[in-house]
Amino acid sequence: MNAHAPIPALDPGCAVDIRQERGQRAVFCGLTGIVWLHRKIQDAFFLVVGSRTCAHLIQSAAGVMIFAEPRFATAIIDERDLAGLADMNEELDRVTRRLIERRPDIRLLFLVGSCPSEVIKLDLSRAAQRLSQSFHPDVRVLSYSGSGIETTFTQGEDACLAALVPEMPREATDAAASLLVVGALADVVEDQFSRLFAELGIETVRFLPARRAGDMPAVGPNTRILLAQPFLADTARALEARGATRLPAPFPLGAEGTTAWLKAAADAFGIAPDHFDAVTAPGRARASRALDPYRAMLRDKRVFFFPDSQLEIPLARFLSREMGAALIEVGTPYLHRGHLAPELALLPPGTQVVEGQSLDAQMDRARAARPDLTVCGLGLANPFEAEGLATKWSIELLFTPIQGYDQAGDLAELFARPLNRRTRLEV
Ligand code: SF4
Repeated sequence: MNAHAPIPALDPGCAVDIRQERGQRAVFCGLTGIVWLHRKIQDAFFLVVGSRTCAHLIQSAAGVMIFAEPRFATAIIDERDLAGLADMNEELDRVTRRLIERRPDIRLLFLVGSCPSEVIKLDLSRAAQRLSQSFHPDVRVLSYSGSGIETTFTQGEDACLAALVPEMPREATDAAASLLVVGALADVVEDQFSRLFAELGIETVRFLPARRAGDMPAVGPNTRILLAQPFLADTARALEARGATRLPAPFPLGAEGTTAWLKAAADAFGIAPDHFDAVTAPGRARASRALDPYRAMLRDKRVFFFPDSQLEIPLARFLSREMGAALIEVGTPYLHRGHLAPELALLPPGTQVVEGQSLDAQMDRARAARPDLTVCGLGLANPFEAEGLATKWSIELLFTPIQGYDQAGDLAELFARPLNRRTRLEV
């Protein structure tokens, strides 16, 4: 069970009702992040050091991708390791060496810690250092933890990106200001944002993670970071420790979020407001047109978010402000008050935000409220459907490109789909 830090006092301007809850939780562990991270960093391999449970989790989360020469696997800690009959470090070296020989395309190898490896205190960071030396310069080996004891779902990405930060080259101290967009985005979304930043006139724009291990961006005191995802607390801290400055902004979900996110960068780089408006106008218009058909379907619909990915608050803001939905409760596994402040300020006054989870109590509240739409994990979705509640599986929000102007319609469609299906089934 993860510990919750106490929430600092509310800002006077923040009118949402935030409280914490503890108890049983129904969330993924951070290993799940491997499913989208391995697609993003195209020459990286993720080797989970864990149990059969971890291997099953990854295989079920990745679905059909397990058949397509995947770039992830599990080194299973077995009884011989646990009984001390085998030297686990030697075993790990042997498994890794065989892997690297078979897959010469790998440039970056992540040793990913799990609950079993954490509990038996296997020192993966030392193993990563040792293996990095022996494979140098062909393969870099890093480690991070995706264990359920320490990480919830998307925090696996945060841990992975934070492990990359010390590897990033140092930006020259006299370099011109650069923009670093942080958070794994689908390539199509990244390309759209690159074009928009170029049209705005921001010259040096880089993305973390890069698509290739050898292309990780430089960082330094002239770097301005713009978080593309709300769950990157450790990564942001590591980048700030290297001198970078974070630009506060809402997240690029929906037309409004995307505009405010781009505006934060534009303001930091001194882009004239007229030019900003001219560059973003076509995207805003496209997004508005794409959202129109879904507004009627989502208006006044009562939505309940279970905690899952930390995307809940930006998604709730999008549904409420752009689609006219009503928010019953917005659960989030963690709430980073600093990073989420611009989002909290946009939620309707009085919105119930719950950090953490006490599963039974939360399910009771959802049943009592009978929401029109319940956003929750796969474990809860079918049982709620059987009780007559329409549900949206939250994991899809991670696997589908949803950021930016051109994905705003797709984002609304993800929420409208279960309502639409229910209507059609009822006819
Ligand atoms: S890391 Fe922990 S929570 Fe995740 S699959 Fe392995 S044992 Fe389960």
